[in-house]
Amino acid sequence: MAVQQNKVSKSRRNNRRSHHALDGANPNECPSCGELKRPHHVCPSCGHYADREVVAQADEIDLDDDAA
Ligand SMILES: [Zn+2]
Repeated sequence: MAVQQNKVSKSRRNNRRSHHALDGANPNECPSCGELKRPHHVCPSCGHYADREVVAQADEIDLDDDAA
């Protein structure tokens, strides 16, 4: 087992951890539905990316058409 040669003081430890804080998300407004979404990701509420629909939403799929 590796054993440290010198004790790391509280000050030095806390100074090292001063860079460990997490950044909050930076959400964008979706241009098609106005909902907040992650930048460079498909909008989870309307399925649009860059002004076109790329993911069909569950309520827009007609199940009767698929069965026939
Ligand atoms: Zn949207």
